[in-house]
Amino acid sequence: MSEERIDIKKERDDGDNTRRDFLKNMGIAAVAGAAALSAVPADAEAKVELAEHLQGHFELMTDGQKKECIERLEKRYTEEFGKKTTVSNAPPVKGVLFGYALSISKCIGCRRCVKACVQENNQSRHDPEIEWIRVLKMEKGNLAFSADKLDKGYPETSALGNHGVQVGGNAYNAVGVSGETEHYYEPDKVPEKDAFYFPVQCQQCEKPACVKACPTQATYRDPNGIVVIDYNWCIGCRMCLLACPYWARRFNWAQPNLPAEDMNPKTHYLGNRPRMNGVMEKCTFCLQRVRDGRYPACVEACPVGARKFGNLLDPESEVRKILATKQVLRFKEEYNTYPKFFYYID
Ligand code: SF4
Ligand code: SF4
Repeated sequence: MSEERIDIKKERDDGDNTRRDFLKNMGIAAVAGAAALSAVPADAEAKVELAEHLQGHFELMTDGQKKECIERLEKRYTEEFGKKTTVSNAPPVKGVLFGYALSISKCIGCRRCVKACVQENNQSRHDPEIEWIRVLKMEKGNLAFSADKLDKGYPETSALGNHGVQVGGNAYNAVGVSGETEHYYEPDKVPEKDAFYFPVQCQQCEKPACVKACPTQATYRDPNGIVVIDYNWCIGCRMCLLACPYWARRFNWAQPNLPAEDMNPKTHYLGNRPRMNGVMEKCTFCLQRVRDGRYPACVEACPVGARKFGNLLDPESEVRKILATKQVLRFKEEYNTYPKFFYYID
């Protein structure tokens, strides 16, 4: 585990101040934005909604239909958020299978990846608060042989003898209690003593259970191996959510709350464009970035370099070298979903 410790409390306080100043300065702009929005005639809005409702599956549209759809969405988001918004339709990259590798021993649990992901991907900030990445905090296991632990709860006699040997859970908790994880922890500093961290997001499975479960083919694997969702084709039945063994999918139980000042206007149709009530969403490896030759936001945000990303078809890529040289595991490999998200130990 890395020795670097980050003062989360200080960053949180500084962040609050910056945000307060920012919001104060944004006051005038927000009022102007609201006025612009209310200027959109009601019948124009209705026509947009009807057009969206009637549009076909994006992958099956002609180039002309796609162009029309993109232009309509760009116009709508630009009016709705009061800022020039682009919706890309950049195609998959040729000859690439994207893969991800995350070092469990390097991760310090700072959750910067979570925040970067929320900002980049226009996730709902509250009611519902949506986060595609969860960082699970877990208790470090140990193999203790200490006299004090013997006095504090190890059984007087055990099959292993009275050596204070940890046989499950820890000395003070029943098995199962200590094995539980937290993902809403808020420590002042990370990494915390005796904790390790395990970030989980969509594993971009080669055999995705979610795709098999979807009755409308709204969710599918793109040629780069990224599982995407056509939000306009999703009927919100949530079968994919049930099928996914990784709890990687999030459902918009209400209209997402995305403040105009927080909205990232550089979007992709299959990626981070604003979603609506009643549709599913999840990590896409930042499709809007990676189809443009950039790294996912979480990779760039990680302060300790625990996150690596690249082309699994290229033997010289960083991710392939990790697979070749490190101790690597796939999460829940017994489900035969063949994730392209790998965990490794340095
Ligand atoms: S992790 Fe879940 S949502 Fe992601 S591809 Fe696999 S089954 Fe689908
Ligand atoms: S919620 Fe959407 S993506 Fe999921 S199964 Fe239903 S239609 Fe498919």
